[in-house]
Amino acid sequence: DIVIVVGSGGREHALAVALAQSPLVSEVLCCPGNGGTASEENPKIKNKGANQDNDTVIALTKEVGARMVVVGPEAPLVAGLVDQMAIECPDVLCFGPSKAAAELEASKAFSKDFLQECGIPTAKYRTFTDPEEAIKYVESLDDNDRQVVKASGLAAGKGVLLPNSKQETIEAVKEIMSDKAFGDAGDTCVIESFLTGPEASCFALCDGKTAVLMPAAQDHKRALDNDQGLNTGGMGAYAPAPCVTPDLQKEIEAMCKKTVEKMAERGTPYVGLLYAGMMLTPDGPYVLEFNCRFGDPETQVVLPLLETDLYEVMTACCTGKLDSVDVRFKEGVSAATVVCAAKGYPETYPKGMEIIGLDETKAIDGVKVYHAGTKLDDQSVTRCSGGRVLAVTGLGANLKAALQTAYKGVNAISFVDANGDQLMHSRTDIGRKALQKKLR
Ligand code: ATP
Repeated sequence: DIVIVVGSGGREHALAVALAQSPLVSEVLCCPGNGGTASEENPKIKNKGANQDNDTVIALTKEVGARMVVVGPEAPLVAGLVDQMAIECPDVLCFGPSKAAAELEASKAFSKDFLQECGIPTAKYRTFTDPEEAIKYVESLDDNDRQVVKASGLAAGKGVLLPNSKQETIEAVKEIMSDKAFGDAGDTCVIESFLTGPEASCFALCDGKTAVLMPAAQDHKRALDNDQGLNTGGMGAYAPAPCVTPDLQKEIEAMCKKTVEKMAERGTPYVGLLYAGMMLTPDGPYVLEFNCRFGDPETQVVLPLLETDLYEVMTACCTGKLDSVDVRFKEGVSAATVVCAAKGYPETYPKGMEIIGLDETKAIDGVKVYHAGTKLDDQSVTRCSGGRVLAVTGLGANLKAALQTAYKGVNAISFVDANGDQLMHSRTDIGRKALQKKLR
């Protein structure tokens, strides 16, 4: 069967590699893909399609006769790709939620109300569309009742402000609602209680009826070591995350199952990947947010742990038959990934550097380099084309071994510009706190 993977990041490279391992899959077409999917060792993986808008994806699906479309990023889902596919290519399986189900990510106001209705633990909150009312509410709160202010809509992972005082909270409300720092995403604003505890990224495979939780991951959002510097899309991750004990894993899986059951009851069944951003508070696990797709770079550590054929699992998700598949994960294997970014990311950064050392990494046992912001030039040289350039994943018998392997891969790589300057940045402390048993 032919599978189309929509998107161009490291997540999509990891999805393509996992799907191509299936004997049932003849070709994985990445639409549009990146330098890594263009030069993948597995000849089943190719790039096709100039971009990832819905019309391009649908035209490509029809042209090649694809059996399945797997959607990486949220934008096409929120733009209704799955709904449009159901009309134009009704026989094609689509791994991803409908526009209505993707509201779980697209509207924090919706997802908070939904969580509350389901009785799933989430921070106490209020929703506002009028900035003056929001400010009045903040003023009415106790001085030490710390709040988090969120733009309800999609803001590319930047729409959450963490003020330290009442005054800062009011400023945050103004920034989101009046100054429109995140555009329309801030028309509605969620103000919620500040929670504490380690965070975990929990991915549930969903078939519209039930859910299966994958091993939990932890990511590292800040640009620099010791969680310093600006927030980024993610600088590294590892899985399974030791802070999610087997009991917590069961508890979180039950929350995801309940979510899927309630979404079905509302007439908006959830198919695809449900990403629950969890905080493990002293009162138990709380859902901070839902995303309607795989996370990046967590995908680059979670998928390598899947033992069952991903294509079979996704087929079961798209046909409401997840119960009939025994979804297994590798025992005694950990994965860690370290993101190699262009120096300066997430602010301005250079592009076009040659990526040196990719062949060397192929000789290191247990290393897989997933590409994100890369492209092949006319001479087939792999060059940097984005901020997060590579995610170097290492596998090992435990977290320590996985990290050592990932860093062996990182140490083999450099980004070199025309002057010979080295312009790569990666964190040196991915997974360190977990190793030291200081749970994040
Ligand atoms: P993402 O990039 O994961 O899509 P997002 O912008 O959609 O992020 P959230 O995940 O809801 O937003 O929040 C981003 C971060 O803000 C969280 O990872 C967490 O560290 C912090 N955060 C969110 N809500 C709370 C809360 N109630 N208490 C404390 N910290 C919070």
